[in-house]
Amino acid sequence: MRSALYPGSFDPLTFGHLDLIERGTRLFDRLVVAVGDNPRKQALFTVEERMDMIRRHTARFPGVEVASFSGLVVDHCARTGVGNILRGLRTPSDFEFEFQMALTNRALRPEVEVVFVMPSAEWVFLSSSLIKEVVANGGDASRWLPADVLAAVAKRLQRDAPGA
Ligand code: ADP
Repeated sequence: MRSALYPGSFDPLTFGHLDLIERGTRLFDRLVVAVGDNPRKQALFTVEERMDMIRRHTARFPGVEVASFSGLVVDHCARTGVGNILRGLRTPSDFEFEFQMALTNRALRPEVEVVFVMPSAEWVFLSSSLIKEVVANGGDASRWLPADVLAAVAKRLQRDAPGA
């Protein structure tokens, strides 16, 4: 059985993440979407809230599980018997960071492979942090994330959600 861990912050979940998840389900029988619990990163949503959002929007995909993890991604793979890490590549700047991280992970655990997938072109410029900026400043982010997620972001940032 082919399995992969798709780790990330997912703060919040976007259509870019969902695009990657759908592509991942075509590559892997089991895809664990894992929310990183990183106390050094300040998040808008708790790990549980982010897991709930992901669960709601991935129920239709076969073989998808939702989890959280702390510590090294490769250690989590080893603990849970997952052989691959799925990551998205949007831009050349993503590549620079991901390349370093992939080789560091390989040095730590050579048995875990990192698989990169590109999203549909409409999501290449999309990031959770940009969305938070758009919503915080009153912009319409409805084309980039599910309506319930947008409503939750707007509520947390105390903004109305145009288009939601
Ligand atoms: P992290 O803090 O790990 O970068 P993110 O939630 O920002 O967490 O991203 C998790 C993964 O999803 C990364 O591999 C990232 O490249 C990918 N990703 C994020 N946004 C998109 C998008 N719009 N299209 C494709 N992949 C994306």
